[in-house]
Amino acid sequence: MVGSTLLKSTKFLNLSQCMKVLVSQNRSYTSKLNEQQLAIQELARDYTNRYLKPKASKLDIEGRFPFEEIKQITNLGLMGACVDEGYGGLGLDYLSLAVAVEELSRGCASTGMAVSIHNFLYANLVNEKGTPEQKERFLTDFTKGSIGCFALSEPDAGSDVANIKTMARQDGDYWILNGKKSWVSSAIEGSAAAVFATFDPELKHKGLACFLVPLDAEGVFRGKKEPLMGVRAATACDLRLDDVRVPAACLVGRPGDGFRIAMEQLDQGRIGIAAHAVGIAQAALDTAINYAKQRVAFNKNLTRLPSVKDRLTDMCILVETARLLTYRAATDVSTKNSSMAKYVAGRNATAVADHCVQILGGRGLSTKYDAERHYRHYRDARGTQIYGGVTDIQKRLVGHFLLKEHDAL
Ligand SMILES: Cc1cc2nc3c(=O)[nH]c(=O)nc-3n(C[C@H](O)[C@H](O)[C@H](O)COP(=O)(O)OP(=O)(O)OC[C@H]3O[C@@H](n4cnc5c(N)ncnc54)[C@H](O)[C@@H]3O)c2cc1C
Repeated sequence: MVGSTLLKSTKFLNLSQCMKVLVSQNRSYTSKLNEQQLAIQELARDYTNRYLKPKASKLDIEGRFPFEEIKQITNLGLMGACVDEGYGGLGLDYLSLAVAVEELSRGCASTGMAVSIHNFLYANLVNEKGTPEQKERFLTDFTKGSIGCFALSEPDAGSDVANIKTMARQDGDYWILNGKKSWVSSAIEGSAAAVFATFDPELKHKGLACFLVPLDAEGVFRGKKEPLMGVRAATACDLRLDDVRVPAACLVGRPGDGFRIAMEQLDQGRIGIAAHAVGIAQAALDTAINYAKQRVAFNKNLTRLPSVKDRLTDMCILVETARLLTYRAATDVSTKNSSMAKYVAGRNATAVADHCVQILGGRGLSTKYDAERHYRHYRDARGTQIYGGVTDIQKRLVGHFLLKEHDAL
């Protein structure tokens, strides 16, 4: 819709008028999205502007999980965006989900993160890799309000996934799980998790398996909410698994498939975190432009000071490059593309939020007034270089696949 309006309206416009149309829409690249993706973008944008954005500061200050907002987002269909319609989803493509996550994160990074992880790391996993029985049990309710989690990290194994210690022991028609998971997003509010465990630590990555585990199962203990620097309304906590008995029917794929499943899901998860980072960066750019337009220094608006204009230009370039790589990764999914998108989007969001703080001067640092919001972009942006896989690992992955393509490993 937006794209076709632009095409129609640009027919008789000159270049500067075209730029005005683009600026009035406050975004670019929309012309490359198809009708469905544009409709989802509009849906998420409208919801964000009218309902989510006005509440974000309060949610962050109070560190309150966005229950009400997630319920509304569920009603929009976005908690099962890519899930087959037969299981209550919208059956959309990854790019539609990514643009929705970007818009939601622009308004409230915590909400955008929770939506991203639920969809890309849990719902899509069950939808694409689950049996019909698993989908009935672990998917249908999860497009209607239940929240799903992804429990891979452990206290002694974050980046080093093959070294996880949570044990899975087969006992007849059951598997018994024992161990500790850490940093599980939304586990306090969640109803089930994809849990990764080893059935033979000697086998390293070949010994991993993935289980769908109800979080109210006997032996599952949820830890306290981790106090976070950013995305404070989102939650992450430890999960302790003490002799948790799960039916063999809850095993995803076969024993030994766990590492592949985790890596394939992280390829998607990184698109989600990249989109989330683009949303945070866009919010910081919007904030900085709006402030610079009305703040006067040396008898001029800040926008007329060359150094501020330069900063805003840098910010725009950082946002756009991150968005392009993210959209590319969402349409052409590969480890190299999603790692590159996450690497660039996380770093760029942090840099853009840093510029934003600078343009706001003292107000950029203040936790008083409304300006707390602006410093919040900075706090929120930083985490995008950590969760979903640290920036350093993304760089290594890009390098690995680059050399592999050139037969130079
Ligand atoms: C808010 C939040 C939410 C999270 N949600 C989830 C979730 O839902 N599910 C989940 O499973 N996990 C989750 N995590 C965990 C997250 O994925 C890990 O924190 C992350 O993968 C890094 O692991 P680590 O913290 O153990 O750091 P480490 O692996 O100990 O790494 C620390 C640092 O060492 C360096 N480093 C380590 N290994 C390498 C390497 N091979 N090459 C180069 N440098 C390296 C990097 O600089 C890295 O930043 C979350 C984390 C946070 C903070």
